[in-house]
Amino acid sequence: MIFLETKKLTKKFGGLVAVNNVDFTIEQGKINAIIGPNGAGKSTFFNLISGFHPPSSGQVIFKGKDVTKLPSNKIAQLGVARTFQTTNLFEQSSVLDNIIVGHRLRTKSNLFDAIFRTKRLKLEEDLCREKAMEVIEFVDLQKVAHKPVAGLTQEEKKRTAFALALATNPEIVFLDEPAAGVNPDETEGLAVLMKKMAAKGITVCLIEHKMQMIMKLADKIMVLNYGEKIAEGKPEEIQNNQAVIKAYLGG
Ligand code: ADP
Ligand code: MG
Repeated sequence: MIFLETKKLTKKFGGLVAVNNVDFTIEQGKINAIIGPNGAGKSTFFNLISGFHPPSSGQVIFKGKDVTKLPSNKIAQLGVARTFQTTNLFEQSSVLDNIIVGHRLRTKSNLFDAIFRTKRLKLEEDLCREKAMEVIEFVDLQKVAHKPVAGLTQEEKKRTAFALALATNPEIVFLDEPAAGVNPDETEGLAVLMKKMAAKGITVCLIEHKMQMIMKLADKIMVLNYGEKIAEGKPEEIQNNQAVIKAYLGG
């Protein structure tokens, strides 16, 4: 069975076709990358898969189940997690609290449930605290677990965003530009963490602009340009693809 698949996935914003008829398959346990110039539709593609935007047409199939019309919290509950291009963390809260609240926001169907804790939710939160400490260890943030996010380095913020995604116990994580704004050493650290996720059996799909990192890290790459898939393959195939070179050089 194909692990995750999009079939002719399309998103139109008025007259603009942000994602155009994209067929893509993701193999379980692998590291998949999506690259392409700014505005190519990469983040929108993630929004469609994770249920943040309804597609205009096409399908998303996860483990044989059509999840196209499911809301984001239902998709999260099925084991599909994501991070955002701009990390939306609560700067004044600790890493631990961000993960606990983030977990609630991602899995509850309404904001009321997420913000005003009922007795039932309090119980869930306690369970979640243990789980949160587990993911904090996994991403190697034990030392700053109780510190406010505002004081963290850029890399630690990225790790916090990873932890937020991992807290929902996902089978697959979609990471939107995880290494944007971090220095080369930190980028290497994040690459190691992504490999660690894959080694644990968590399928990874990332959007990234750092080519050196992608070419070393990814098992498979898809290239989007103006919403369309223009290439797909192993890093060495993508590197030598004429359509890709043209799209990047703007020729
Ligand atoms: P990328 O992540 O590849 O840089 P995006 O998916 O963010 O690209 O955007 C693709 C195109 O869709 C862009 O032209 C962008 O302006 C447009 N777009 C994205 N989100 C919206 C939205 N919510 N409403 C209208 N247009 C949007
Ligand atoms: Mg984007």
